[in-house]
Amino acid sequence: MDNGDGKVRIGFYVCHCGTNIAGTVDVASVAKYAAGLPGVAVSRDYKYMCSDPGQDLIGEDIREHGLNRIVVAACSPCLHEATFRTATARAGLNPFFCHLVNIREHASWVHSDRAAATAKVYDLIRAACGRVRHHKALERKRVNVRPEVLVVGGGIAGIQAALTVAESGKKVYLVEREPTIGGHMAMFDKTFPTLDCAACILTPKMSQVKAHPNITLWTYSEVAAVEGFVGNFKVKVRRKPRYVNEEACVGCMECVDACIYKEPKFEDEFNQRLGKRKPVYMSFPQATPKVVQIDPETCLHFKTGKCKQPCIASCSRNAFDFNQEERFEDIDVGAIIVATGFKPFDPARSPKYGYGHFPNVYTSLEVERLVNSAGPTGGEVVMRDGRKPKSVGIVHCVGSRNLQTNRWCSKVCCMYSLKLAHLIKEHTHAEVYNFYIDMRTPGKGYEEFYNQLLEEGVHFIRGKVAEVTDWAMTPEEEGKLVMRVEDTLAGFVRRIPVDMVVLAVGLEPQADAQGVRRMFNISCSSEGFFLERHPKLAPVDTATDGVYLAGACQGPKDIPDSVAQAGAAAAQAMALIDKGYIEMEPNAAFIDSEECSGCKSCIPLCPYTAISFDEVTVKATINEALCKGCGTCVAACPSGSIKQNLFEDVEIFSEIEEVLANA
Ligand SMILES: Cc1cc2nc3c(=O)[nH]c(=O)nc-3n(C[C@H](O)[C@H](O)[C@H](O)COP(=O)(O)OP(=O)(O)OC[C@H]3O[C@@H](n4cnc5c(N)ncnc54)[C@H](O)[C@@H]3O)c2cc1C
Repeated sequence: MDNGDGKVRIGFYVCHCGTNIAGTVDVASVAKYAAGLPGVAVSRDYKYMCSDPGQDLIGEDIREHGLNRIVVAACSPCLHEATFRTATARAGLNPFFCHLVNIREHASWVHSDRAAATAKVYDLIRAACGRVRHHKALERKRVNVRPEVLVVGGGIAGIQAALTVAESGKKVYLVEREPTIGGHMAMFDKTFPTLDCAACILTPKMSQVKAHPNITLWTYSEVAAVEGFVGNFKVKVRRKPRYVNEEACVGCMECVDACIYKEPKFEDEFNQRLGKRKPVYMSFPQATPKVVQIDPETCLHFKTGKCKQPCIASCSRNAFDFNQEERFEDIDVGAIIVATGFKPFDPARSPKYGYGHFPNVYTSLEVERLVNSAGPTGGEVVMRDGRKPKSVGIVHCVGSRNLQTNRWCSKVCCMYSLKLAHLIKEHTHAEVYNFYIDMRTPGKGYEEFYNQLLEEGVHFIRGKVAEVTDWAMTPEEEGKLVMRVEDTLAGFVRRIPVDMVVLAVGLEPQADAQGVRRMFNISCSSEGFFLERHPKLAPVDTATDGVYLAGACQGPKDIPDSVAQAGAAAAQAMALIDKGYIEMEPNAAFIDSEECSGCKSCIPLCPYTAISFDEVTVKATINEALCKGCGTCVAACPSGSIKQNLFEDVEIFSEIEEVLANA
């Protein structure tokens, strides 16, 4: 909108944000002050600028007063910059002539002195009005979006996300690094609070994934490299050799029976090393895909070359291929859903619980396998010494809510400890003691489950276990593990002798989370879990457009929450794809190629790998679709040839001059 006279006409609006801003800042005086600033044609305060009437106010003023710049003093641009730019565009003005000043987080929320906060707002709005006059009309560029989706991680979250996207008719690649999909849920016998059979819920979904015509499932595979940008990612997937042709093997297990090792001899990872397997094996009978594989670390052929390979002879389908090598698949996808899950806390880091020292101290995941009828003991809860426990102590919060290990609450441990208490009691009739700090049961039916456990006669002792020891002080403690705890409800220190200790280990980020973060250009929270773009408004988006999060890789969560989040991530990916294109924010950096000396110093600095070197022109070039406008290259460029839309020198210096004008 040009009034033809070349004059800047600023509309200024200050928001009360209820009492969020007006409680600390004198908004009426701010509006009055703004009215006196150069170029300001209209100045108003309003209770909720982001509401419909607030936005209409801007539109009406643009039309009525011929405004050509808008400044809104309100909350964070993260929350409402888009709202006010859209309102500006609706009234026919280029949206990038609108500038938002954050006087909530930067003034009202961080000051209590009303006069000082108001004075600070004067400075901030003067600076905003100073810079906005130099704004240029900018255009958003459109980038086409490919219709395929990559899902990384085949736990319950990845499975749900893949099925949801595939059901909408889109092509999905599901990449899982283990030989089977299923994740941690595949190890459980029952799930809280309903105690329904985990396999009965999970395994049908696993077979749906395998059978779905829109899903390509690559297990025993990992993403090796990702290039490109939203709508147009180029992904390289590494497929590790399993020495068995997946298309030929039907999982009949005859090769396992025929193996030169007559008895299972090697540690079974899926069974938490409580059972044994052969070098040719399948993780569990319902593994998906239903295909065996060979572990070259234990296979006699790979170790000595002297095995007669009865496995090959036993296979009527010629599925074995001992020459298989690592191979790579290149795929193009429009969106990526990261669902790489969690790692359980290693209790050896808290030696006071005796894990690894006393054989009858177990992790919760180990006990999940013991209570499982498909587990190493066929569902019998027996200890390493072969005895059935008569008394069991379950320690909550192992590794969680502790400054020495992890500060966060792992959210699911109280509930799964209740589940294990119930199952252990059911299997053994043992006395079960739960040692907890606080009982956390927020969820549908969760508190009711806790009450059920109280009625079942499970003991609850509120206090942190100080140590687990085998040092007996009384005859009753002889041959037992003694749990020393300060009972904070009874107010004294207790010693509880038990046969078996179960450690409710917390949830941690995966060991390779930092590498995955770098590969997909996403951020991690201080705990190391992947960071969502906004905890409330964009809980499955990441800072990288087109990359979404699902499940426990974003933070500890139970199965219902993982499934819900997976649905949300799938919906986001589908919305992106269905639109068919994406509009890029124009606040990207750009290079004045006349000035660029081709020194390349900007290239390694770019955190988004958006800058490359053009060997023909011998200049740097910026991929606008990848640039996030962080400004690192602008600040670092020795020749000053990199500039950034909305952050050009004239805009920044005017802002600085105005903010300091009263200093
Ligand atoms: C002992 C225990 C008991 C529990 N019991 C219950 C219960 O009864 N009810 C309940 O609601 N919740 C329970 N939970 C929580 C439950 O385990 C999680 O909610 C659920 O597993 C989260 O699913 P996910 O898919 O996000 O992660 P995961 O189950 O961890 O799956 C992640 C998947 O991604 C794969 N992966 C990881 N990194 C990569 C990579 N780089 N490339 C490719 N693939 C990768 C992994 O191999 C895995 O298959 C329990 C947790 C524990 C520790």
